[in-house]
Amino acid sequence: MTGAREACGVFGLFAPGEDVARLTFFGLHSLQHRGQEAAGIAVSDGLGLRVHKGLGLVSQVFTESVLQPLTGSAAVGHCRYSTTGSSSLANAQPFYLDTSLGPIAVAHNGNLTNAHLLRRELLERGVGLVSSSDSEVITQLLASPEGGDDFVDRIRSFMARAVGAYSLALLTPGSVYGVRDPWGFRPLCLGRLGDGWIIASESCALASLGAVFEREVEPGEIVQLDRRGLTSHQGRPAQQTSFCMFEFVYFARPDSRLMGRTVHRVRQEMGRLLARQHPARADIVIGVPDSGTPAAMGYAQESGIPLNEGLTKNRYIARTFIQPDQRMRQAGIAMKYNPLLENLRGQRVVVVDDSIVRGNTSRAITRLLRQAGAAEVHFRVSCPPIRHPCFMGIDFPTYEELTANRVTLEELAEALGVDSLGYLSVEGMQEATRRAGFCLACFTGDYPVPVQFGLEKAVFEASPALEAVR
Ligand code: AMP
Repeated sequence: MTGAREACGVFGLFAPGEDVARLTFFGLHSLQHRGQEAAGIAVSDGLGLRVHKGLGLVSQVFTESVLQPLTGSAAVGHCRYSTTGSSSLANAQPFYLDTSLGPIAVAHNGNLTNAHLLRRELLERGVGLVSSSDSEVITQLLASPEGGDDFVDRIRSFMARAVGAYSLALLTPGSVYGVRDPWGFRPLCLGRLGDGWIIASESCALASLGAVFEREVEPGEIVQLDRRGLTSHQGRPAQQTSFCMFEFVYFARPDSRLMGRTVHRVRQEMGRLLARQHPARADIVIGVPDSGTPAAMGYAQESGIPLNEGLTKNRYIARTFIQPDQRMRQAGIAMKYNPLLENLRGQRVVVVDDSIVRGNTSRAITRLLRQAGAAEVHFRVSCPPIRHPCFMGIDFPTYEELTANRVTLEELAEALGVDSLGYLSVEGMQEATRRAGFCLACFTGDYPVPVQFGLEKAVFEASPALEAVR
C-alpha cells in the first residue's frame, strides 16, 4: 500500500438561497487540474450534512441526478490527486464524522509532515481509522472533545499540533471554515458571490462562478463564513511564509492569481529569464503543451526567435503523472502528443517545458521531435533541477527516481538525446515571481519544517484491516 498524499483542490461556500451543490460542482470543475482521481461534495441544510463522493473526474462523480437532491445553504467540495496506488474510495474526500459538537465535513489540500505521529497517537487512544489519508487524521483531531467546546477552538488546537501543509475547507451545519497553515504552503483564497462567501484553492474557481476575488486567506488564519458574514480568527501566529514555488511553476492554473500575481505572467517571465540565462541559436521556439506554453512565449519574446506550435496535445488524456506505474506513464505520454511535422522538419527547435521530474516527458518529447525531422533540439526547463522529494503535498518521487539526482546534467542531456539542455536558476525563478517567501525545498533541499525521510512515499504502514477496506 502506498500512502495517500494530498495535493488537491478544495472549495467551500456559504450562500443561502443559491444552488450550493451545483455552484460547488462548477467550482470543483475549475479546480479539476489539481486532482482527477476522486471528487466529493458535502452540503449543509442548516441542520445536518449530506455527502456524496466517488472516484473519477468531477463530471463523472456528479451527474444531474446526484446533484439535484443535494439542496442546502452551504457546501464544501474536494477533488483529489494522490500518489500511485491509493485511488481508493476510502481516501476520497470530504471526510465526514459525527462529533460531540455535531457533524463536520473536511476537505484538505496539503500534507502534514507529522501525520505519522498524530496518527499513532490517535490509534493508541483507541480512535479507529478507515483510510491511509492524513486528512482523516485531521478530521479525527477536530472531533476530539479535548480540543475545545466549539469548532474554532478545536481548529486552533489542531493547528497547535499540526506541522506541514494544510489548506482546509470545513463544513458544519451552520458554518463554512477556511483554514490555512501558518507557513501558507498551499494556496487558499476568499471571494464574494452576492451576499454569499466562497473559499477556493485558486481564484480561477471564483472567476468561473462570477464571484469577486476578495483576498487570500492569510497563513495561520481561520475564516468563518455563516449568517453573520465573514469572521476572521487567528488560528496560529504566522510562521516564515513558505508558499509552494511549484504552484507557480506547474501546479496552479495560468489564469489564477497567487500572491497578487497572475500565474501566466509569472511563467512568461520565467521563460524570458530562461532565454537570457540559456540562449540558443534556433529557428523556432515551441512549448510542451499546455504547461510549457507560457514560458515558451516568454522565451520567444526575449530571444526574438519565432514561437510556433510543434506538438498537438490530446487534451482528453489525463495528466500522465497520475498513472499507476512507469510503463503506463510512458504509454500515456506517447498517446498524449503528436508532432506537427511541417513545423518541425529541418528546423532547429528550442522546446520549453515547465519541469523535469522523472524525465519521462522530456525523453518522449525529444524522441518525437527527432522523428519529426527536427535538425536540432535545445531543451529548456523553466525551473531548476528538482532534486528533493516533497513532503508538503506535491507528488514527487523519492530521491532515487528524481532524474536530476541520478545523473549529471551533461549525462541527462546525452540520455535525452538533445543538442543542449538548460534550466532556469533558483534566483531567476524567484525573480520572475517578484515576490519572496517561498518553499524551495524540492530545488534546494532546504525544508521549512522538519521532515522525516523515508516517509515521503509510504506515509503509513500497511495493515491487513486497512487493505480489506481499500
Ligand atoms: P517527468 O515526465 O516525470 O519528467 O515529469 C515532468 C512533466 O510532468 C512536466 O511536463 C510537467 O508538466 C509534469 N509534472 C511535473 N510535476 C508534476 C506533478 N507533481 N504532477 C503532475 N505532473 C507533473
